[in-house]
Amino acid sequence: MSFSSSVKNELCRLENMNECCVLSELAAVVWLNGVAAPVPGDGFNIRITTENAAFARWIYSSIRKHCGIVPEVTIRKSRKLKKHVSYMLYITSVSGSDVLLEKTGITAVVDDDRCELVLTRKTDEQIPCCVKAFLRGAFLAGGSISDPEKTYHLELTSRTSEQADELRRMMSLYGLNGRTITRKGSYVTYLKEGENIVDFLNIIGAHRALMELENVRILKGMRNNVNRLVNCETANLSKTVNAAVRHVENIRYIAANIGLDKLPASLREIAELRLEHKDLSLTELGQLLYPPLGKSGVNHRLRKLDRIAEKHREGQTGLEAKRTGAAK
Ligand SMILES: [Zn+2]
Repeated sequence: MSFSSSVKNELCRLENMNECCVLSELAAVVWLNGVAAPVPGDGFNIRITTENAAFARWIYSSIRKHCGIVPEVTIRKSRKLKKHVSYMLYITSVSGSDVLLEKTGITAVVDDDRCELVLTRKTDEQIPCCVKAFLRGAFLAGGSISDPEKTYHLELTSRTSEQADELRRMMSLYGLNGRTITRKGSYVTYLKEGENIVDFLNIIGAHRALMELENVRILKGMRNNVNRLVNCETANLSKTVNAAVRHVENIRYIAANIGLDKLPASLREIAELRLEHKDLSLTELGQLLYPPLGKSGVNHRLRKLDRIAEKHREGQTGLEAKRTGAAK
């Protein structure tokens, strides 16, 4: 089961909701997923479509309980994708669709041959429980959430830009900044960032999903830390190796151009040991000296050797530059 479906199933199992909240949730569902068709001289027939079985059951029983209407349900299977099932709930004018519209605060408006559902219900910060319920309805009606293992993305689909505006407004009451894009003629309002998605799940009451997402975030954070540590150690290791290679190069340069026997005894000793034991660490090299020398002492002497080689090279290139200058 996808993460989206498990969140939706969890939301459909929520119990003990206030009547105001159930109606607010239904308002979101009818407004976002409902289609109204005028019945000449006698109101409207309303059709609500969803692909989630648990949600279809929730809509059915909520409308029945709070509006006293028994919706007709039909199930349609897609011919191409056998698993793809749509549930359609019909609330006819005869069965009392006007009650549903009135209770949810929605007006059906006929404009030429089109029929639009307009939300007249005011849901604001005065009734936070209902804002939450409305967003929950919006998520159930047209929302989806990505598997947090893959990416952090939550979106609410709507048909019109007004709907998207309203969803963003409600999100903003909780400090969430949704963004809307258009995709295939729909308005998609989305949230990125794990933290925002956790907040949204908390608002709509999907607490189990929230815990699951938090666990994934913690694990991902730990994995990142481990990777950072490994990268750090690799970096240190390559630093050490690079230094050893540089030391050996410089000592060979001194041997060829100056002569190790020209060096003070303390430096000659470490230079010879470094050439002889290229794979030993500085600490181990120090142990071979008599008396033994610590890591920083060894490092100090090797750096002196680096400087001697560097100075000599600079002198050489200086001389060469003078020579070429004289030739010109
Ligand atoms: Zn409420």
